[in-house]
Amino acid sequence: MVDNVYRTRSLGVAAVGLPDQYADGKAAKVWQLYIGDTRSRTDEYRNAVVQLLRQHKCQRILDVACGTGVDSIMLLEEGFNLVSADASDKMLKYALQERWNRRKEEAFDKWVIEEANWLTLSRDIPKPGDGFDAVICLGNSFAHLPDFKGDQSDQKLALHNIGNMVKPGGILIIDHRNNDAILKTGHVPQGKNIYYKSDLKSDISTSVLYVNSKPHMVTLDYTLHVPNEVDQQPDVSTFRLSYYPHRLEGFTEMLKGAFQGKCQHSLYGDFKPHCPGQDTPCYYIHVVKKTG
Ligand code: SAH
Repeated sequence: MVDNVYRTRSLGVAAVGLPDQYADGKAAKVWQLYIGDTRSRTDEYRNAVVQLLRQHKCQRILDVACGTGVDSIMLLEEGFNLVSADASDKMLKYALQERWNRRKEEAFDKWVIEEANWLTLSRDIPKPGDGFDAVICLGNSFAHLPDFKGDQSDQKLALHNIGNMVKPGGILIIDHRNNDAILKTGHVPQGKNIYYKSDLKSDISTSVLYVNSKPHMVTLDYTLHVPNEVDQQPDVSTFRLSYYPHRLEGFTEMLKGAFQGKCQHSLYGDFKPHCPGQDTPCYYIHVVKKTG
């Protein structure tokens, strides 16, 4: 069965044989509505990302999971240079559209958008010199990569490829949902979501798949009430996304491994310095500075 998902093109399988969960276009279509428009990415989030990049003197940024382009657009508006990549053409379509609409602005005219998969990143994206000042992989994106082989080898390869795009002295900013909390309580933490600010009524229901007594996949079913201008009754839109439930400790180890230990690692909970035991953030954000 897994083999089937792995190989069948009609399910929207990306070039290297992994499923594109966005292939039916359903999530891509409502994603902009879920996250709110790009200006609605919360100020807290925008300030935190921009501050991190400025603090590390980053100018040339690679967004390896740009999706519809929300982070990239935010950073272009803040004056950064962007190369933006994603494996899903359905998601990229929205980024390309925005680039076209704003092509008269210099930053957008220079914006490079590529279809690329983390598993083949060095082939898909030309590396400028010794790398980018910063690589970002945000919005719980990395967790989209499943572990079909059961040894996390694809995830390790992907992290290695992503890390390889960072120049020495540059940084990687990568996040994941707080799966330690999700696995403990059975639902996503109820705190304020600092990532997205949609005005639409929404709900997320959570299920966890265990394989050999190990959590293997978290599935989130999103329900959104989308206004319908014709008959005033909101349309109910649903989409489902499945994630690998990275736990904090294991992910941190894997991340350091991707840099062969030649890195400095800092951890944030919802972009605040993390205090273990004191807070239950919705997201963990790892900032890894390449030292070697
Ligand atoms: N950062 C954006 C997008 C989040 S959605 C935001 O916060 O809104 C996650 C994105 O990761 C999707 O667009 C999906 O296509 C992309 N993705 C998943 N697996 C990928 C892979 N193996 N290589 C490249 N992109 C991938």
